[in-house]
Amino acid sequence: MKKTFATKEKFQEIAEQYGTPVHIYDERGIRENARRLYRAFSWNPGYKEYFAVKATPTPRILKILKEEGCGVDCSSLTELILAEKCGFSGGDIMFSSNETPAADMKKARELGAYINLDDYTHVRFLKDTCGVPKTVCCRFNPGGVFSVANQIMDNPRDAKYGMTRGQMKSAYRDLMALGAERFGIHAFLVSNATFNEYYPMMARQLFTLAVELHESTGAKVEFVNLSGGIGIPYYPDQIAPNIETIAAGVRQAYEDILIPAGMGDVRIFTELGRYMLGPYGCLLTRAIHEKHIYKEYIGVDACACDLMRPAMYGAYHHITVLGKESAPLDHLYDVVGGLCENNDKFAIDRELPGIDMGDLLVIHDTGAHGHAMGYNYNGRLRSAEVLLREDGSTELIRRAETVDDYFATMIF
Ligand SMILES: *Cc1c(COP(=O)(O)O)cnc(C)c1O
Repeated sequence: MKKTFATKEKFQEIAEQYGTPVHIYDERGIRENARRLYRAFSWNPGYKEYFAVKATPTPRILKILKEEGCGVDCSSLTELILAEKCGFSGGDIMFSSNETPAADMKKARELGAYINLDDYTHVRFLKDTCGVPKTVCCRFNPGGVFSVANQIMDNPRDAKYGMTRGQMKSAYRDLMALGAERFGIHAFLVSNATFNEYYPMMARQLFTLAVELHESTGAKVEFVNLSGGIGIPYYPDQIAPNIETIAAGVRQAYEDILIPAGMGDVRIFTELGRYMLGPYGCLLTRAIHEKHIYKEYIGVDACACDLMRPAMYGAYHHITVLGKESAPLDHLYDVVGGLCENNDKFAIDRELPGIDMGDLLVIHDTGAHGHAMGYNYNGRLRSAEVLLREDGSTELIRRAETVDDYFATMIF
């Protein structure tokens, strides 16, 4: 059974104070999880997590992660400016972009961020827009499929990101000729991977490539960036990935491949988003309508503009009806938002307890790629974000949009 991170009384208090729908984050959960991650990778002295800003671009959240030792991974000019405003600079920032505009590249260089090149042609682009820094990272795409025990997990060959092995080598050579002295290797091959083998298997590939690149070009590899992709258990019966097992698997690969090659000083970086925040956020919404036609519907005051994942990916998000946690699941509902879009459904044919109008529903695991993916379709305004602090108090960390915000860019 999936538990909410606060009591019904706390959620009621939040609903009264801030209104619904509202995204809520659990400071304690965020901090404990970040500390556990750092402990798991403490065998690697240079380890650093660069939180993928796109998952939850909220300053208060970024500051909590900064206090826990994390940097940020940005992919656009605006995200870079957000990072700067939150006090991140230089080596605290990873810039992993693709189809990068010149202004974005210039800003990354100005901040002294680690620049991660998505393509071989970006070597020239980097040189022409802002000059080549001392350290440069290149993103690798091994092609083919990523499979575990004969099961295909993802399809790198169809992914637009990264360079081929041959291009990696050429990029390193060219960059060295242009003055780069230290290098990084980056890859992102599987999204929401809940199996523990993902990082260790990819690490083996990247470490092998690091040795190859070092031996063929003489390049000094400073770090290997395993990027994001570690998943979370969205379903109640799903097993969470085990970060200690994952980190131990990466360590084994490190000891098998990098240490014998005399590369025992390579730093491990990660750019986790979902894993850092997903379970530590939820969307609180209220049942405002019920409808009985060919199916049973519960209409809530949140909609896909607050959480796009179900509409976009058919993603499962668990729902708890507050106060009915142990009631029998004897109703079959579609829980829907009010967009004029038939995919605006948080749950389809979900077994839930009988829902009464006014009931509060917690939609779980919305801490990453939740509010962040919000939009304004149908003139819907994006909700507030509230932090549940470790001492049990609450803090508004982003106000809800107003009608004036909506009209701000319009020309009448
Ligand atoms: C989206 C993204 C991440 C984070 O992905 P998660 O699935 O949230 O871990 C990290 N790095 C890059 C380059 C990304 O695009």
